[in-house]
Amino acid sequence: MRYSKQRAAILEIVNLNPVHPTADWVYEQARKTVPNISLGTVYRNLNQLVETKVLQAFRYKNVIHYDSNTENHSHFICDICSQIFDLYHSHEEVISSLNKISNHRITGGQFQLTGSCENCKVDN
Ligand SMILES: [Zn+2]
Repeated sequence: MRYSKQRAAILEIVNLNPVHPTADWVYEQARKTVPNISLGTVYRNLNQLVETKVLQAFRYKNVIHYDSNTENHSHFICDICSQIFDLYHSHEEVISSLNKISNHRITGGQFQLTGSCENCKVDN
């Protein structure tokens, strides 16, 4: 199978599963449709998709997660169930308040926030 077809299969897996998958997870899925694909091929294609800004990637607890949503957004990770959620907020507001308390000139970034998600949190 040609590289471009493998890449298309990998991209489709990430696009159809907005769960911020890891390379291992994508590999397990890809094997179902591309039986002879290797983990190295999956890594190489995922990295190329990130380099060309088709996907974005972020690191959490030393594991890289891939994200088909390339819009500027932050992530909330549940400490209990480990699900990763997208968070949309005004980056401008957060960045301008951070600039007020720092001597740096902060121009952008994404946040990784943790806690317990709405299914896991215990109300009290
Ligand atoms: Zn995301």
